[in-house]
Parts: sequence; C-alpha cells; structure tokens
Amino acid sequence: MDSTPTPKQREKLEAWLRYYDDLGLGVFYKDRTQLTEAPTNLDPSEIPVSERFAQPPASQSIQVAVAPSSPAGVPAKAMPPAPLKPVLPVMKNETSLFESMDHVENDTLARIREDLGDCTRCRLHQRRNKLVFGEGNSRAELVFVGEGPGHDEDVQGLPFVGRAGKLLTQMIEAMGLQREQVYICNVVKCRPPENRKPEDDEVATCSPYLYRQLDVIGPKAIVCLGATAAQALLKTKDSISRYRGQWFDFRGSKLLVTYHPAYLLRNPAAKADVWKDLQKVMAHLGLTPQRKPAR
Ligand code: URA
Repeated sequence: MDSTPTPKQREKLEAWLRYYDDLGLGVFYKDRTQLTEAPTNLDPSEIPVSERFAQPPASQSIQVAVAPSSPAGVPAKAMPPAPLKPVLPVMKNETSLFESMDHVENDTLARIREDLGDCTRCRLHQRRNKLVFGEGNSRAELVFVGEGPGHDEDVQGLPFVGRAGKLLTQMIEAMGLQREQVYICNVVKCRPPENRKPEDDEVATCSPYLYRQLDVIGPKAIVCLGATAAQALLKTKDSISRYRGQWFDFRGSKLLVTYHPAYLLRNPAAKADVWKDLQKVMAHLGLTPQRKPAR
C-alpha cells in the first residue's frame, strides 16, 4: 500500500520534525515512517527560517556563495566577491529527519512505479498521455534530473527523448558514457500543460517518489538540469546563478546543478559553462572525456 503522505501532511510533519530537531530530539524520531498527528498549534510560516534550523558546525554545512545585496544605486558588478555563508544544513554521517521521511526500507524502482500506479495525486494527470517514470541503469553512478516531460516524452512515456533529450544524450556521450549507463528522470512525472513550469504543490506531491528513486539508485553524482530540479532537491527558491557549478551533499550523493539542455538550445553560448560543470562531474566519477561536445 502506498503510505506516501499528502503535501499537507508532509508540511505538517516537516514542521513537527524541525521542531524536534531544534530541540535536539531528532534521533528519537528517525524510525518513524508512518504519520502521527502533529501538534496543531505549530504554524511553520510564523517561525523565521533562521530559527527553524539548528545551525550545524561549519564543517557540516554546504558552503554557498551568497551575493550581498547592492546598496541603492550601486551596480551588483561593483560589489566585492560574495562571502561564503552556510545556508543549508547537512547531516554528514547519518540520515537526517527529512531524508528518513521519504525513505522506504528495501525499496526498489519497481515498487516505486507500482506505488505510483495510474497516478491521479495532482492535476497534471488530467492532461497527460503517459506518465514518465524515468529510465536507465538502476545502479547508475550518475543520475540526471530534469524538470518534467514535454510533448515527445508525454507521447513516448520516456524522459528526454525530444530535442533537448538529443542534446542531453550528446552531453552524456561527450562525458565518455552511454545513455544506458546513467539514469534519467524528472521532478514531475506528468507533462505540465503547454510545458509550463510545475507548480509548487505538483512538485511537493511528486518529489517523494523522485527521492525514493534517488535513494534506491544511490548514485555517486546527481546532476540537476535547470532551476526547477535544483530548487526541488535543494529546497531553495534562489536563482540558478547562485549555485550552478557548485557541489552539494544530497542524501549520500554529490549533487551539482547545471543549465537545462532546453536552455542551451536557446542560448548555445552557455554550453561552455555546462561543459565546465560536466568536467567536474567527470573528475568526481574518474572519467576522461571522449571529445568536446558539439557547439
Ligand atoms: N525537459 C525535461 O525537463 N524533461 C524531459 O524529460 C524533457 C524535457
């Protein structure tokens, strides 16, 4: 039976877990996979974000360059280099409460697919043709996460098979890999109408299944293609320029964000940045390039 919490239940439970995490009681709640009624007097929106997370020691924090806000009239370019500031708490050697929420013991990709079934959990099911679960090597060292299926993917039920997909395949091959060696999936599994960005509630409904897929595969590296994937996995609303090309820790994997291939089709000049990002991934995976990707 699918015991995945609804977005509302998740929100409540997250607030509850944060509260106990802050009190240092998290360890007592780690093995809870079933939802219990959360205290109803807790409104997470009333708690400032800075107070919701107990700040971990510096060595356990993701370091993200955060640009200082420009004083009025001073162009951002004139500002000094951005200081490094820890913004996301990371548990190094143990599973965080947030990770354990979506974790299912002895999970498999087949079981996740079965749990999704003929999914009607969000409005995206209404106009989809085929649900796009993801495809590739279930033991891949490298996983690519995109935003959501487009027209071609919706027709075929496979991720990244349209124009952007062809470019992604070229990128993978330029890294010295075959497409079948990696795993490819998306934040949402059904095509948003007119290829609009998925809404927050659609992402919240679908992402527990993505987290389960990533837990099962346990790749060495995850590459987020574009801001939607990055924002869903890093739980941030910051713009992609803040964290593109940097490494993050994510549920035992290294995660890096680069531009979406659809963006590269519109802005070919950004391919150079993406190639730099992919070279970092290759170094992490011990790969040597076959050739530079086509311009
Ligand atoms: N764009 C995406 O984000 N995902 C796909 O599967 C195809 C295009």
